[in-house]
Amino acid sequence: MQILVTGGAGYIGSHTLIELYKAGHTAVVVDNLSNSNPESLRRVADIIGIPEIPFYRVDIRDREGLEKVFAKHKLDACIHFAGLKAVGESVEKPWEYYENNIGGTLVLVDVMRKHGCKNIIFSSSATVYGDPAEIPITESCPKGQCTNPYGWTKSMLEQMLMDIQKADPEWNVVLLRYFNPVGAHQSGRIGENPNGIPNNLMPYITQVAVGKRKELGVFGNDYPTPDGTGVRDFIHVCDLAAAHVAALKCFTNALTHSLNNTFIYNIGTGKGYSVLDMVKAFVRVNGVEVPYSIKPRRAGDIATCYCDPSKAEAEIGWKARYGIEDMVRDSWNWQRQNPEGY
Ligand code: NAD
Ligand code: UDP
Repeated sequence: MQILVTGGAGYIGSHTLIELYKAGHTAVVVDNLSNSNPESLRRVADIIGIPEIPFYRVDIRDREGLEKVFAKHKLDACIHFAGLKAVGESVEKPWEYYENNIGGTLVLVDVMRKHGCKNIIFSSSATVYGDPAEIPITESCPKGQCTNPYGWTKSMLEQMLMDIQKADPEWNVVLLRYFNPVGAHQSGRIGENPNGIPNNLMPYITQVAVGKRKELGVFGNDYPTPDGTGVRDFIHVCDLAAAHVAALKCFTNALTHSLNNTFIYNIGTGKGYSVLDMVKAFVRVNGVEVPYSIKPRRAGDIATCYCDPSKAEAEIGWKARYGIEDMVRDSWNWQRQNPEGY
């Protein structure tokens, strides 16, 4: 298939490009570079062994820009990563988040349908479960209250895409609910490249390890978890990338499923590790120090979040292959080789 990859220069998008080409697909990338560097695409092309990845610096809110891309390329499906993703920033700038993520997706989907491209894989998140009603979380767990506008954009976009699919059954909609992506391509040439102070745990750990930050703040050690720190379902970004390739099966096999061609999958490992488990594994595997101190809980955080990923295995034949050692090793390999990012 030829796939439109929105947000393809970003962290998960760049890793997914490699998996797509490995599986024999080709891609066209659209990204406005608001949170990425085109160097990622040059390195991806190098790793794949092709001269370049077709790339358009286009904002998904720019209808004309998207029209030109669709006029130029025959696109079979879209993997839609483009969006703003900083939880804290979304609380400060809700309008910008709703406008970019929701406004952008509405334009994208409209241009897609006008060009007869009605297959979409959407980057959703475990955040749509809110404080989950059951652990491990299955896809039948009810959606919950989000604690920030970023989360609501994911929850609302899921609903919008399902409604659009219901009204026009030619659409096939795949909602992948990612748990906590970490790690990097084993080459260490591409990885997560946050702007400013990292919000997420793993990039904070790697920046402490490389000497850019003094110590990690562990947000709370009084949660009802084995060691008191938050528990998450960390997943290697290469496993997550491979899930998108597996999900393309939903488009070719769609009619054998059901008339209601919306497919929802949890994409995690099914294992929960605590913040301190991650820190300790990082120190043990990489032989580096990560000083930390306990800080108050972070607003909006939940104690425990991990999934039951068995539906994805049963229906699209995907499951995670990498473990915690691989995650901490590859995160460090990327940071060590690229202390200043791209
Ligand atoms: P990222 O910021 O590295 O990648 C997103 C890309 O989208 C960036 O390259 C950015 O420049 C681009 N972009 C943003 N707005 C755009 C617009 N209007 N037009 C064109 N391009 C635009 O983030 P990521 O970690 O790779 O995340 C990819 C997707 O997965 C996002 O939708 C994110 O919300 C979702 N997700 C991420 C995580 C995570 O922890 N990383 C977890 C769950 C879901
Ligand atoms: N966390 C932390 N210190 C940090 C960043 C995160 O202790 O500097 C904790 C956070 O409280 C949560 C876990 O690490 O328990 C994962 O947080 P992250 O922001 O990476 O992902 P989230 O699950 O919130 O999407």
